[in-house]
Amino acid sequence: MTEPVPDVTPQDPAFTAPGRFWKGNIHTHSTASDGVRTPEAVCATYREAGYDFLALTDHFMAKFGFPIVDTRPFRTGTFTTLLGAELHAPATSLGETWHILAVGLPAEFAPLQPGETGAALAARAAAAGAFVAIPHPGWYALTAEDAATLPGAHAVEVYNHTSQLRTERGDGVYLADQLLAGGRRIGLIAVDDAHFACMDAFGGWVMAKAEANEPDALLAALKAGHYYATQGPLIHDVAWGPAEVEITCTAAASVMVLGRGSRAVQSVAPGQTRVRLTHTALQAGGFARIVIADAFGRRAWTNPVYFEKGTR
Ligand SMILES: [Zn+2]
Ligand SMILES: [Zn+2]
Repeated sequence: MTEPVPDVTPQDPAFTAPGRFWKGNIHTHSTASDGVRTPEAVCATYREAGYDFLALTDHFMAKFGFPIVDTRPFRTGTFTTLLGAELHAPATSLGETWHILAVGLPAEFAPLQPGETGAALAARAAAAGAFVAIPHPGWYALTAEDAATLPGAHAVEVYNHTSQLRTERGDGVYLADQLLAGGRRIGLIAVDDAHFACMDAFGGWVMAKAEANEPDALLAALKAGHYYATQGPLIHDVAWGPAEVEITCTAAASVMVLGRGSRAVQSVAPGQTRVRLTHTALQAGGFARIVIADAFGRRAWTNPVYFEKGTR
């Protein structure tokens, strides 16, 4: 005999894990591929702008010598780096070369193997310990079917700043929501993807929760989902209860809790810094995620939380 048990109250580990938030951009290019500034200059640019960490992710292609730039010399007492790359292989459903973001790669990660597909390359990066993300899906019209071939990807870029500035296709929310509606669990990141051919820095980043601003701790935080993404607004706390969630943030014009399909609850009013919303209508959809937007339309996104029903 079975009987329903209460829903498990979800938790967002970004707000329950120990430590503090560290600001980092985890998708950037340099002269090691098609960027304009040297690796040292890119690191200095972000360090001087107050970022705590950076991942340089040059294009891992034969024509650039499959670079994984050693940024360790550019670390300081208050600024660190993660090694990484943007990986490429054939081919998306539109026949385009895959772009796959890999943060936390070993320096000796092997070049693309003969016949290796995007799916195989992404799996190899994840097996090597990397945080793997699906970059700028809107930029090249990536579909949910494409994304389904990368089951090991940890996250989707919901915002890519250079894609937004250069093509108006910086949005990846559509893909994240389709994957979540299909039952997949996946994180949401925002990045610059700066190349510095134009001023495409400082438009999107992650706030990663860790006890120290150290590469191993930051990589573990990313892989565990201990982060949120933002274009500027800060989310100080998210406290989930069985029926309500309380969000504490910098001044927001909209505070939204979004679920499967059209499920949503929200508070729209100027200057909100603490909002309580009832999320019971979202639970049957399986997930909920929070978005806040400030008066300038800049957004911050939490990772989804998941509602689990049980029987006994
Ligand atoms: Zn790319
Ligand atoms: Zn890129």
